Amino acid sequence: MHADLHLHTCFSDGTYTPEEVAGHGKRCDLAALSVVDHDSLEACPRMEAACRLHGIEFIPGSELTAEVDGRELHLLAYGMELDHPHLLRALDHCQEVRQNRIREIVFCLNRLGVPMAAEAVFRLANCRSPGRPHVARALVEAGYCHDLDQAFDRFLKRGRPAWVPKHKMSAAEAIQLIHEAGGVAVLAHPGIGRTDYLLPQLVAEGLDGLECFHTKHSTPITEHYMMLADRHQLITTGGSDCHGMNKGQPLIGTVRLPYAHVDQLKHRIRDRRSRAPLASRLLQS
Ligand code: AMP
Ligand code: FE
Ligand code: FE
Ligand code: ZN
Repeated sequence: MHADLHLHTCFSDGTYTPEEVAGHGKRCDLAALSVVDHDSLEACPRMEAACRLHGIEFIPGSELTAEVDGRELHLLAYGMELDHPHLLRALDHCQEVRQNRIREIVFCLNRLGVPMAAEAVFRLANCRSPGRPHVARALVEAGYCHDLDQAFDRFLKRGRPAWVPKHKMSAAEAIQLIHEAGGVAVLAHPGIGRTDYLLPQLVAEGLDGLECFHTKHSTPITEHYMMLADRHQLITTGGSDCHGMNKGQPLIGTVRLPYAHVDQLKHRIRDRRSRAPLASRLLQS
């Protein structure tokens, strides 16, 4: 039995609907799936229903952008209560920040002589959590770039002329928020960011796990993070980071996480929930 715990839908920068993601999960014979849209939980109810139809276990999730020491980190949040008021308010704020950032990016593009309207990006994104991939798609569709990579390389990457920084929560704030909502926090694709030196601090702030298995991790990188997880008593997760058809072939199912890791994750969620401060729960009810 295998799982893929890192999937995106059209509620952020993926191209598949929740039902399509569940269908592909079935085709790939996956026993468990998690969707981790950027700063959004909106796909979760539909994913839950679609997975139930296919007999697939679904774990709710989201990918939050956070910052430590001026560096951007992605934190995977798993197992939260979907109606937690504080979490929903925070995600709402992140989505508003994303929408304003799209306007700023488009403003930069206009100054560079690309006459694109923010509304065109919003129409294409058709979600509350738009990101640079949507701008990239709009640039490709309007014929300004050949493909998404070129759009990032010419305009959207850090250091490029239409790059706009994004306000982020600190990792400590994000981890606390995730715990408060009954979830666990896993550092996404640690092999991409060169942030190993931050691990002791993140662990002290309550980090629960490392995403050891990821499309962009080679076997030695995966082994390196398995070793670090062991050293810091962290759980280990993994997934394909599939964004649908954005990059040609769907990645779903290309990272096959043995189910034992899902058990570990569920265990950690239960453990966190049993330790969550009772007071905050009582206040909410
Ligand atoms: P944002 O959250 O708006 O800063 O956008 C970050 C997202 O852009 C990441 O989650 C990736 O999905 C995507 N991304 C980054 N680089 C590229 C690239 N070269 N081609 C396509 N997508 C990319
Ligand atoms: Fe993404
Ligand atoms: Fe990410
Ligand atoms: Zn992702």
